[in-house]
Amino acid sequence: QKFVYDFTEGNKDLKGLLGGKGANLAEMTNLGLPVPPGFTITSEACKVYLATGTEPAALRDEVSAHLDALESAMGKKLGQADDPLLVSVRSGAKFSMPGMMDTVLNIGLSDKSVAGLAKQSGDERFAWDSYRRLIQMFGKTVLGVDGDHFEEALEDAKRAKKAATDIDLDAADLKKLVKQFKKIVTRDAGRDFPQDPREQMDLAIRSVFESWNTDRAKLYRRQERIPGDLGTAVNICSMVFGNLGPDSGTGVAFTRDPASGHQGVYGDYLQNAQGEDVVAGIRNTVPLADLETIDKKSYDRLMQIMEILETHYRDLCDIEFTIERGELWMLQTRVGKRTAGAAFRIATQLVDQGLIDEAEALQRVNGAQLAQLMFPRFDDGAKAELLGRGIAASPGAAVGKAVFDSYTAVKWSRSGERVILIRRETNPDDLDGMLAAEGILTSRGGKTSHAAVVARGMGKTCVCGAEELEVDTKRRRMTVGKTVIEEGDLVSVDGSTGKVYLGEVPVVPSPVVEYFEGRMHAGADDADELVEAVHRMMAYADRRRRLRVRANADNAEDALRARRFGAQGIGLCRTEHMFLGERRAMVERLILADTDDERDQALKTLLPLQKKDFVELFEAMDGLPVTVRLLDPPLHEFLPDITELSVRVALAESREDHNENDLRLLQAVHKLHEQNPMLGLRGVRLGLVIPGLFAMQVRAIAEAAAERKHAKGDPRAEIMIPLVGTVQELEIVRDEAEQVIAEVRKATGIDLRLSLGTMIELPRAALTAGQIAEAAEFFSFGTNDLTQTVWGFSRDDVEASFFTAYLEKGIFGVSPFETIDMDGVGALVRSACEAGRKTRPDLKLGICGEHGGDPESVHFFHQVGLDYVSCSPFRIPVARLEAGRAAA
Ligand code: ADP
Ligand code: MG
Ligand code: MG
Repeated sequence: QKFVYDFTEGNKDLKGLLGGKGANLAEMTNLGLPVPPGFTITSEACKVYLATGTEPAALRDEVSAHLDALESAMGKKLGQADDPLLVSVRSGAKFSMPGMMDTVLNIGLSDKSVAGLAKQSGDERFAWDSYRRLIQMFGKTVLGVDGDHFEEALEDAKRAKKAATDIDLDAADLKKLVKQFKKIVTRDAGRDFPQDPREQMDLAIRSVFESWNTDRAKLYRRQERIPGDLGTAVNICSMVFGNLGPDSGTGVAFTRDPASGHQGVYGDYLQNAQGEDVVAGIRNTVPLADLETIDKKSYDRLMQIMEILETHYRDLCDIEFTIERGELWMLQTRVGKRTAGAAFRIATQLVDQGLIDEAEALQRVNGAQLAQLMFPRFDDGAKAELLGRGIAASPGAAVGKAVFDSYTAVKWSRSGERVILIRRETNPDDLDGMLAAEGILTSRGGKTSHAAVVARGMGKTCVCGAEELEVDTKRRRMTVGKTVIEEGDLVSVDGSTGKVYLGEVPVVPSPVVEYFEGRMHAGADDADELVEAVHRMMAYADRRRRLRVRANADNAEDALRARRFGAQGIGLCRTEHMFLGERRAMVERLILADTDDERDQALKTLLPLQKKDFVELFEAMDGLPVTVRLLDPPLHEFLPDITELSVRVALAESREDHNENDLRLLQAVHKLHEQNPMLGLRGVRLGLVIPGLFAMQVRAIAEAAAERKHAKGDPRAEIMIPLVGTVQELEIVRDEAEQVIAEVRKATGIDLRLSLGTMIELPRAALTAGQIAEAAEFFSFGTNDLTQTVWGFSRDDVEASFFTAYLEKGIFGVSPFETIDMDGVGALVRSACEAGRKTRPDLKLGICGEHGGDPESVHFFHQVGLDYVSCSPFRIPVARLEAGRAAA
């Protein structure tokens, strides 16, 4: 097994082995772009280290061999006293984890070689600046010294010198600082800063390995659903120097605007600076376009390289580069993160440019992004007090109470408050706070600052670099001109425009929703670019998908919206709402009925009301299938709350004012009380135990369908029996239903065809699906109940109690109620489909649980071969898109 690859040996497809950074450095090297030479230690080596606590035996020799080769190519040795080769040791995992892992620059500098570097470069200040940076980074990331100690010493040095920035410190100052930094290391790390260059390198490599398992790396992976066992690669890259004076510098660039998708010159540049300086916001950067006047030659070369990269990667790339005395070097590229809106626009732009085809375009977006675009936005027309404006870093409209530290953000959000996290700038320690906040606001940093990059990744609203805001973390407030915003004051942050408002600004629907609603049209003059792009992508998806998409909707209004959003039917109409509101009294009478007669009377009063509901629904969905589920929840849910009722009865009793009905209700509530209502008298069991209940519902459906037919409509009702565990249950209910339908057919003279099917939501039903299919024309998997019963936990209880612990321990990557558990619940779905179709080849198969609108689950249902998924109306576009992506 080979653990080390030279940059010339890798390529962009080896991300798993070389990490994203290493694979792309290799790709750029092989494209002939100017990359400083180096090599990559594989993530396999890291895995061995993490599993055994030591580097694999062969690693040391392999690293030595590659280092030798690098040294001969460069004509100098690592840390050589009179002319040192310096390298960076950089982490880089398969998936980019911005700011999560550690990188150390200037490895190879020591008390001896710092003089050699000064002499070779002719710049003593530069040499000492590089050395103090090395001790600072190495001390912090490798030796675990608190970084603040170095920062404070640096600030003191600047203050003593009345220096505005680090640039104003001269060689002598930096030399003093190095002495101080070394003292800090010795004091806090319990050892001296290592003078042996190879020891520096080896320790740095090990610390990169270890950085895979820091708390913040773990948190980020959990959030992004990145597996925990991939490990990170380590890149050893010869140094180039942006801190060699004004003709040097370092910058970041995007080949397109990651917020809008527009082509152009986007990025930040900082003269006389090294590495992280640009993103850390230590000095103010200039826009990349200014590089044209600073150094035209390098600028032109950069533009040329960006063009090469876009064409080569066929996507938006982001880039890190350094200019050393007028010479441009590429230090990193990767396919760049982007906002949801930009993802859609870029995908269609690339199709137009002929760089990708439609199927590929579909892989460039996802349902989560589409969902994000459907969020509401701030109302332009609303009166709002503008506080300031920063950079629109990650879109969305966020309103919340101002908080100035992560701890408070987490605490307040736990207690149900919406908060906006406001910081001067964020760093990886702010991650929990960023997760907890509705939005993030910083007063410093550009589009590539930590806050911006991480918020975009999380899909969180973010405005950064709002310079008018004076953030005072210590006093927990910020001031803007004369306005003071204290902790707890409401602010509104618009991540699409960069504007920050005082107070709560009202929100309006997104243009994408307006488009789906049919209130904005693609191709119309006022349609925005985003709507055009979404329109086209939806068409690509609809042309390809095999899964049909239905809606879960209980009334005509929801059904009509679902239809506008592209629903091809209703997969689940819950009938329980038809028993609520003013109809409660009738249901109470039904439950309290002592005689058949009383019960029949109660049912009779419910019948016309239900029929009317169905007529409206079938009319709204004319020509499309509507699956109606017969009553599912336990009856006690329709009765008053037991405590409330007991109090009422007791009070009445104390006034000697007996209410006969309340007393009977109370008795009934006691009688119906169950320890485990979820596993109690509900679903098909109700139909079997309460005579006439299901018959009434079936009659309402059949009569409604007859009425619609009579009116020349095209009703396509499907009757669905919930919670069936065995075919016998289904057969009894089915016989009864068929009899009712026959009666309605006879009475109306209308040729009614209603299909009858069942939900598969109990393990037993799934296991005996072959038998059940004999009595069912369709199956609809109720994956919510199926998940509860397969795992044996109650959704209403566990999500708040032990799920967080399970997620933290990595038992699930995501709640099985959110994404279908493919190995367990999914396996049952798969085998039930096979068994069912064996019995009845034309069996229709669908799913109506919450999972119907979840992107990953949709892909699974596509693979299993279902006919449709059904989800809530707002998720329909997401399901359509994902079904198209699954088939593309
Ligand atoms: P991250 O993954 O956090 O971006 P990097 O490994 O890319 O970390 O390095 C951090 C910073 O140091 C980046 O700005 C990068 O461009 C710079 N850098 C890394 N290696 C070198 C090098 N060999 N010469 C000059 N700058 C470097
Ligand atoms: Mg980088
Ligand atoms: Mg159910």
